[in-house]
Amino acid sequence: MTRADGLGLGFGALLLALVWLFGPSPGALSAGLLLLCLIVADGVARPQSPWLLPIITHGPRHRPRVALTFDDGPDPRVTPLILDALAVSGAKATFFCIGAHVEAHPALARRIVAEGHELANHSAAHPRTLNLYGPRRMTAEIQRGARIVEALGGDGRRYRPPMGLKSPPLARVAQALGLKVTLWSLHAHDTGSASAALIATRVLARIKPGDIVLLHDGGDRGASRAETAQATSLLLRELARVGLEPVTLGVLLEGEGEISGR
Ligand SMILES: [Zn+2]
Repeated sequence: MTRADGLGLGFGALLLALVWLFGPSPGALSAGLLLLCLIVADGVARPQSPWLLPIITHGPRHRPRVALTFDDGPDPRVTPLILDALAVSGAKATFFCIGAHVEAHPALARRIVAEGHELANHSAAHPRTLNLYGPRRMTAEIQRGARIVEALGGDGRRYRPPMGLKSPPLARVAQALGLKVTLWSLHAHDTGSASAALIATRVLARIKPGDIVLLHDGGDRGASRAETAQATSLLLRELARVGLEPVTLGVLLEGEGEISGR
């Protein structure tokens, strides 16, 4: 039974108990159902919400390490710039790649792995409606993404759902496939029109040990993320100055137990 199943059963039992105690009052039933809808909506939409399934949103707070993560690549216009910046500073990062983009640019994915970074699964095609898929179709999409990154030395079980959205079917699929569903604790908001300096300043104002930072090195609508590449250079320089070491997710979470629901 998944956490989402437990939530549904718990609320069902609570509603039955209320009806048994007080009779079928429409007000009480509507209030109970509204509360359930709010909790499920929070579980679906808020990246840090653990209501539906165990997720990873940050690492230990007592070690001076952070994880920079890049979604939606690899992209030949942006990923090489980010890899260059990481190489200059000796930092490591994690790339949640879209399977189709890896198939289009396999040399870039190989470079990610060869330079010591983590190549992880962000689904095969990044479908915006993935959350509406049933378990069977969702499994096929996630497994296809996993096979593509694993063929190039990546970790297919390290999974970040498109747009960070979760769902009860994802809870079942994650349990069946043993996925390490990894969201983030700090969103760089680099997908709009923010300048590199603004992106870096916003992250640096909030970053603390253990944070998992969400950035983007590609875009499913072909948007260039040049500002993200520049912001990465600024971030790396400043993180070195304040003594926070950027590491892969595997290193950040070392010894912590992977699926924790923290
Ligand atoms: Zn994405």
